[in-house]
Amino acid sequence: MIPYQRAAFYTLGCKLNFAETSTLARALQEQGYARVSFDERADIYVINTCSVTENADKECKQVVKKALKQNPLALVVVTGCYAQLKPQEVANIAGVDLVLGANEKFDIALQVAQLQHKKAHAQVQVQAIKEARHFHASYSMGDRTRTFLKVQDGCDYFCAFCTIPLARGRSRSASIADTIQKAEIAIAEGSKEIVLTGVNLGDFGSGTDENFLQLIQALDVLAGDVRFRISSIEPNLLTDAVIEFVAGSQKFVPHFHVPLQSGSEKVLKDMRRRYAKDHYQTRIAKIKQLLPDACIGVDVIVGFPTETEADFLETHAFLSDLPISYLHVFTYSERDNTTAVRLGQTVDMAERKKRNHSLQMLSEKKKRLFYESMRQKRFTVLWEGEQDAETMQGFTENYLQVQAPFDADKINTFAQIDLKFLDKENRFIVEPCQELL
Ligand code: SF4
Repeated sequence: MIPYQRAAFYTLGCKLNFAETSTLARALQEQGYARVSFDERADIYVINTCSVTENADKECKQVVKKALKQNPLALVVVTGCYAQLKPQEVANIAGVDLVLGANEKFDIALQVAQLQHKKAHAQVQVQAIKEARHFHASYSMGDRTRTFLKVQDGCDYFCAFCTIPLARGRSRSASIADTIQKAEIAIAEGSKEIVLTGVNLGDFGSGTDENFLQLIQALDVLAGDVRFRISSIEPNLLTDAVIEFVAGSQKFVPHFHVPLQSGSEKVLKDMRRRYAKDHYQTRIAKIKQLLPDACIGVDVIVGFPTETEADFLETHAFLSDLPISYLHVFTYSERDNTTAVRLGQTVDMAERKKRNHSLQMLSEKKKRLFYESMRQKRFTVLWEGEQDAETMQGFTENYLQVQAPFDADKINTFAQIDLKFLDKENRFIVEPCQELL
């Protein structure tokens, strides 16, 4: 008999975590558990954490509290990068029953079954001792219109600020054959957009005789009314061949997310990034040359320990000149066991916040310009779901947000739209009278 009947899930962090939470949910559902929303009373609450967020501990505590408010007797399972990096710290959070590391989380059904009734175990169980070594395929389905398909995990780069290689281990990948099989399942189940995800996606196949270009070539010939999005790719791995392939593909959309992190040559070196500014610039130029309407997103970190005011201004100027569409701005925060904390320098927190604000403003400007430049053009939107009671929203292939009157029959279908009306929030509005082509 199953001791617990209803399971709820909470994801902090990235798309990879999102895909993995779906896999954990399916593992429990296969054992007969019903998946319910985190706002409902459940017997098991699973929290998939992140270590990138500045306040991983605080966030985790809040979510545990939220779970116990719904059901004080529930079994609380915490997993994800924070659990892998600091299992004991997580175990010390009041109310946590089980801590699962990067490998162990994929045995969640077994681990939970072993715990039996909450009353039967007095101590927190910590299963997070092994280094993450195996590749566990994951994909999200049913949670969103888009499917996040994990094809790669871990990273060998060890950038100075990053704890991800410590939490997720060495770079490893699915095989192309396995990925094709998972993509075919997602397509058969009705997925219209598949987002390829990984920690260092472009490193797909490293250590094998397969590579990222071969992967996207293989996916491109799959049958079905589906499109593919590349989630994020390191500039040194975004080759001309990959850009050229996407430019010629009917299925891979013109949207690239390319982390820069700093526009100062000196800071890039201190960060141990694997490219120079020039190289980054050539990547963006190549994309825009072949795909003028492409959307380009950029990650950037402000307040890295060695970033002076002049370095920051160099980054700002570099980004200002690039034809990019939006920024994801991160404020640097100290992480245990990283090279950056040993550099012996720091940027004042108020200054970090100021720099963050400055780049947020630049991002807004870039985004607006990008949206305005797309006015009067025709794109294909995938309607994803309700925005509110009366409207639905979706994204075009080049990641423009579009809104239209709600129509349940249109959800998860494609429509060609002539973009005309742009609102202040950077959404193209489809008027009720505007015919969807
Ligand atoms: S490439 Fe750098 S920033 Fe990205 S996961 Fe690897 S170490 Fe972290």
